[in-house]
Amino acid sequence: FVKSSVIEGTQFEDDSDQETIDAKDILKRELQDERKTLPIYKFRDELLKAVDEYQVIVIVGETGSGKTTQIPQYLHEAGYTARGKVACTQPRRVAAMSVAARVSQEMGVKLGHEVGYSIRFEDCTSEKTMIKYMTDGMLLREFLGEPDLAGYSVVMVDEAHERTLSTDILFGLVKDIARFRPDLKLLISSATLDAEKFSDYFDSAPIFKIPGRRYPVEVHYTKAPEADYIDAAIVTILQIHVTQPPGDILVFLTGQEEIETVDEILKHKTRGLGTKIPELNICPIYANLPTELQAKIFETTPEGSRKVVLATNIAETSLTIDGIKYVIDPGFCKIKSYNPRTGMESLLINPISKASANQRAGRSGRTGPGKCFRLYTSYNYMHDLEDNTVPEIQRTNLANVVLTLKSLGIHDLVNFDFMDPPPSEALLKALEQLFALSALNSRGELTKTGRRMAEFPLDPMLSKMIVAAEKYKCSDEVISIASMLSIGNSIFYRPKDKQVHADNARLNFHTGNVGDHIALLNVYNSWKETDFSTQWCYENYIQVRSMKRARDIRDQLEGLLERVEIEICSNASDLDAIKKAITSGFFHHSARLQKNGSYRTVKNPQTVFVHPSSGLAQLLPRWVIYHELVLTTKEYMRQVTELKPEWLVEIAPHYYQLKDVDDAGSKKLPKGQGRAAL
Ligand code: ADP
Ligand code: MG
Repeated sequence: FVKSSVIEGTQFEDDSDQETIDAKDILKRELQDERKTLPIYKFRDELLKAVDEYQVIVIVGETGSGKTTQIPQYLHEAGYTARGKVACTQPRRVAAMSVAARVSQEMGVKLGHEVGYSIRFEDCTSEKTMIKYMTDGMLLREFLGEPDLAGYSVVMVDEAHERTLSTDILFGLVKDIARFRPDLKLLISSATLDAEKFSDYFDSAPIFKIPGRRYPVEVHYTKAPEADYIDAAIVTILQIHVTQPPGDILVFLTGQEEIETVDEILKHKTRGLGTKIPELNICPIYANLPTELQAKIFETTPEGSRKVVLATNIAETSLTIDGIKYVIDPGFCKIKSYNPRTGMESLLINPISKASANQRAGRSGRTGPGKCFRLYTSYNYMHDLEDNTVPEIQRTNLANVVLTLKSLGIHDLVNFDFMDPPPSEALLKALEQLFALSALNSRGELTKTGRRMAEFPLDPMLSKMIVAAEKYKCSDEVISIASMLSIGNSIFYRPKDKQVHADNARLNFHTGNVGDHIALLNVYNSWKETDFSTQWCYENYIQVRSMKRARDIRDQLEGLLERVEIEICSNASDLDAIKKAITSGFFHHSARLQKNGSYRTVKNPQTVFVHPSSGLAQLLPRWVIYHELVLTTKEYMRQVTELKPEWLVEIAPHYYQLKDVDDAGSKKLPKGQGRAAL
């Protein structure tokens, strides 16, 4: 990846800025003192000795003990970075960024220089980088360019208990390279105590325990189940604020939308509280929150006021926020689930596990005795919650991972050294899907298309759409669409008092019922025509930050196109060509209109609906292709485009036969006649 985002701070001249330098020195000294107060500090030398002695160590320690921020620094101080970089993986990009920022402060260096981070589409590292925080997914991708990770002296797989898909695959890969790279050190670190499993997997690696300090936490349950946990959370926040002694509050919500809702309601409700009640500072934290705002959760709360942090699961173990005395746990999180039979994946709000509930409660007892308010009953806790969350590898689409492993030359997936193997049905489905996308041939070997697809850090359907654009001579348009799709759901905004204006602005991009994909392209191109104007974004109710991110992603995709030797070609006037390229990637996601206005997915029939935010929500074309399914009140298709059914057979002949797209079926003709009519 291009090293685009190295942050260049102000360069100080010798004497003129003496005061600032002093201030910086003081901060650094303070931080150095703070480092020594962390529980891990007492074990520094013992830990370094163990690393010296053993190749693989499992490290267990309470959240906040200093594993993530300190261990890489200790390794650096002990000279490991002279031999190669120290990598520290995180399941979440926010954590990678925030921890890197913290460590660069502690070391008194500029972020992106000696200490950097690397997340998808953003590489904030440089030649100088010695400590590299990165998402587990990024380290996985680094294997593609450097299969023995020669540039690294230590790999620390952090937050191992999270058991994300990428972490699980990393386990297998690092275990393998450790065999022929005796100089490579592996640290597997986790916040939970089930370290034996990790130790067993890594050939009985020693377990290093860091005793944390933990204060007692009083756990409170509700007497009866809550009908609306958002409502209950808000009431609880206000009750704590009004009746409880000072101390900050941490609330676990499932995602950005919930966080924004609670934020808004809280702002409204606290406005009328009067001057006797202390101020309540509301700090949201979730993956898509702009970086500048993320830092707010770490600021110390001014005397006489109280902070309430509205967080996703990220605050469970990945980020340590000091000063939390009260935790509110509604008991839910968003979790991906996958049905290998239908190949459908959806994000669902699910009850958390007991292990999660206990981690959450623990967040309140880090600096003193705490209180945790569970918005469910103790009966629920005892009888309804699972002990542990099922590892992601057992509940996700594996196409991406299979493609990556195949590109690494790992063919025998069934015998890959998985800590917990995925269901064989899911592996098979992934192979089938990659075959249908022509990424694999019938012997399961990577094709040229597959090799090109693997270069893109995207879902195989998206990368296939991009690679297919070569044939339809519209790569220019297709990478714009892919970038816009990668931003997710944060392009348009709809302020409560201006909904009509916002909706009208949005409909402008849909002129001609072009479908949501082309509408996204229209948004991007219109913005580009204004020379990437911020004003234009305001006028059109578009989030400028999201657009800038889309532009960054697009630049990188353009670079990758060059790498796989696909020319940038524009074919803006031929919308069908663009739609065919999209279909080449997303033909699995086709659906046909039913009489009642719902849709049936063509293969593995399931009832789905056009999302109300779609430009086609009123039109309801007969055949559509969609980007993703989201389950809210119903199973909705988000980002929908009209399709000609014969394209399916033309583009994916292995997958669709004429009978699948036989349009007459729904007209209730006698059997046989319909097929003849086609
Ligand atoms: P662990 O990985 O064991 O959970 P960390 O190394 O993340 O612990 O955190 C150790 C300490 O560093 C925490 O007590 C916290 O105060 C501080 N810290 C970590 N990240 C930040 C940050 N981004 N800003 C301010 N302080 C931080
Ligand atoms: Mg940590």
